[in-house]
Order: sequence, then structure tokens, then C-alpha cells
Amino acid sequence: MIADRVLVTGGAGFIGSHLCDRLVEGGADVLCVDNYFTGAKRNIAHLFGRPNFEAQRHDVTFPLYVETDQIYNLACPASPVHYQFDPVQTTKTSVHGAINMLGLAKRVKARILQASTSEVYGDPEIHPQTEAYWGNVNPIGLRACYDEGKRCAETLFFDYHRQHGLAIRVARIFNTYGPRMHPDDGRVVSNFIVQALRGEPITIYGDGGQTRAFCYVDDLVEGLLRLMAAPETATGPVNLGNPVEFTIRELAEAVLAQTGSSSKLVFKPLPSDDPKQRCPDIALAGKLLDWQPTVALEDGLGRTIDYFKALLAT
Ligand code: NAD
Ligand code: UDP
Repeated sequence: MIADRVLVTGGAGFIGSHLCDRLVEGGADVLCVDNYFTGAKRNIAHLFGRPNFEAQRHDVTFPLYVETDQIYNLACPASPVHYQFDPVQTTKTSVHGAINMLGLAKRVKARILQASTSEVYGDPEIHPQTEAYWGNVNPIGLRACYDEGKRCAETLFFDYHRQHGLAIRVARIFNTYGPRMHPDDGRVVSNFIVQALRGEPITIYGDGGQTRAFCYVDDLVEGLLRLMAAPETATGPVNLGNPVEFTIRELAEAVLAQTGSSSKLVFKPLPSDDPKQRCPDIALAGKLLDWQPTVALEDGLGRTIDYFKALLAT
């Protein structure tokens, strides 16, 4: 059987590189496209030389002409620090990137999956968040380049579906963590682990009472693969995340306990529009995909700590 040709945009990033691993192992013919803004060649270096893997430097804000059967559109910086570095480029990546990848999917009749985000719910007023909730996003705030860019990308996906009959899948991904996060990524799990391992202060923004629910990357990738393989009617949007909620302070304490670090907690100002609480309702993913996370925070943190220990030692 000829394996499916699969394009992964953002494939050298944190989630994208784990997805490439699973696809290559599964026998797909994988093309990873990335501009290496927040991704790194070291995340995919172990795949170089595999006959069913190739990587291409490309910015998705420009058109791409390749042949493919499936597209996973992950290209976009995901950490607030990095997506706010060049906010105009962030919106372009989400919106122009979606238009370019949807145009490609239309031309080659490929199935296309969008890596959307829990950020489409903004600072949510209902809890936990279901897919039916339309969100509470500040359209002119510092996070809007990402939140509104991702919301517009969802709009484009559903309009291409309705107008051109495209086979789409939209995953709303909640906070995901694991090995291959960049040490300077800026997101909370990698920040706390790197700070703890270096004996530096653990930076809690605000009072640490805000909540998030953390999904280990292997669970998330399994959800993405199942969504892509689901029947045509399963367009989504579908929440993918771990529904066990923690305060940021609890996360800091868990990292300190598991690293055995004596780092002190320091409290810094809360960034603007930082959501106060976030937790996915994953009933739909359970029903459509028979999916639920299997890795508890303690186990996932352990594996992530081991990764950063090895990385920082080099
Ligand atoms: P990441 O920053 O590690 O990966 C993003 C990848 O996209 C990087 O390799 C980066 O170089 C690449 N990229 C950025 N702009 C590009 C462009 N214009 N052209 C080509 N490549 C470009 O982040 P991640 O956590 O792996 O996130 C992957 C996707 O999942 C993103 O779309 C993100 O919005 C989404 N997501 C992630 C999370 C999470 O918690 N990790 C949560 C919600 C949504
Ligand atoms: N955060 C923190 N210290 C850090 C980094 C993040 O307290 O060093 C907080 C941040 O303010 C937010 C939560 O942790 O409330 C999650 O932040 P992250 O950047 O990981 O992702 P978000 O869910 O906000 O997109």
C-alpha cells in the first residue's frame, strides 16, 4: 500500500515534531514545513535520513505548491512571549497561513486539520469550556494577535468547508507540555522546570490563583491523529486537553517537589488579559474520537524534567 502523503506545517516545533514522529512510525510519507521561528532542527534531526521524512524551510504566509493527501496546520508561535514579539506576523501566520494551506488543500483535494486553541474562548465566563461557548476575547488586547488570528482561521476553515466542500478538522488544543518545549519558550511548565533545575526563582505571575489544565504531548498527538482519521462529519471544533485543573501555584509546588529544587517563589505582575481560569470539557472528544488523556501531571512532569535535565547538561 502507498502510504498517505502528509504535510505538517510547524513540524519542527514542540507538538509538530512529536506528530511527525508518530506519522513517520506509522508509515506515512511526511513533509515537515517550518520557518524555524520557534521550532528547531534538533527536534526533527533524528528523522533526517528516514526515507519517508523530508523537511523544507518555508513560511506559510507565502503560498506552498506540493502534492499531499493530508495537512496538519500547526505553524504558529504558541507561547504568549513569542507570539507577542511580532504580533502583526502572528496574525499573518494564522490568517494568511490558513488561506494558503486551505488553498493548497482545495487544489490537491487534501483533508486539512487546524491546530486551533483554547484561546478562542479568551477569558472564559463559563467553566469548564464546551465547544458551544463563543468566548470572551478582547479584540484589541496584547493577546488578540493570536486569539483573533486563530478565531479568523476557524472562520476560514468553516467557510472553505461550506463554500468549497473541503474536508476539514478543527482541534481546540488546551495547554500542552512535554519534552522538546524550547527552554526559552516562556510558557509556564517549561519556565518553572528550567528555573527549578537552575536554582533560579520560580516566577509566578499574579497571585498564582489562576488555573490551567495540562495535557501531556503524547496524549494530545493521539487526539490529533484520531481527529484526522474520524469520519467526514467530525469536522469539530473539538476540545483536546486534559480536564484536570490546577492553580499555577500548585503547578509551581509540584515542580519544586519533583525536581527537589530549593528555588524560591517570586510573584510578578500578571500579564494583561491573562485568563483567570481554563479547563476543557472533553465530552465531545470522548464521543467522537473515543479519546481521553492517559498521562497524569506527575508522570508527564517527570518525563519533561528528565528531558530538560539532559538538555541543560549539554
Ligand atoms: P511551537 O512554537 O513549538 O511550534 C510552532 C511551530 O510553527 C514552530 O516550529 C515555528 O517555527 C513554526 N512557525 C511559526 N510561524 C511560522 C510560519 N509563518 N511559517 C512556518 N512555520 C512557522 O508551538 P507548539 O506548542 O508546538 O504549537 C503548535 C500549534 O499548536 C500552534 O499552532 C499552536 O497555536 C497550537 N496550540 C498549542 C498549544 C500548546 O499548549 N502547546 C495550545 C493551543 C494551541
Ligand atoms: N505563568 C506564570 N509564570 C511564568 C509563565 C506563565 O505564572 O513564568 C502563568 C501565566 O500568567 C498564565 C499561566 O501561567 O496564567 C499559563 O501561561 P502560559 O504562558 O503557559 O500559557 P497561557 O495558558 O496563558 O496561554
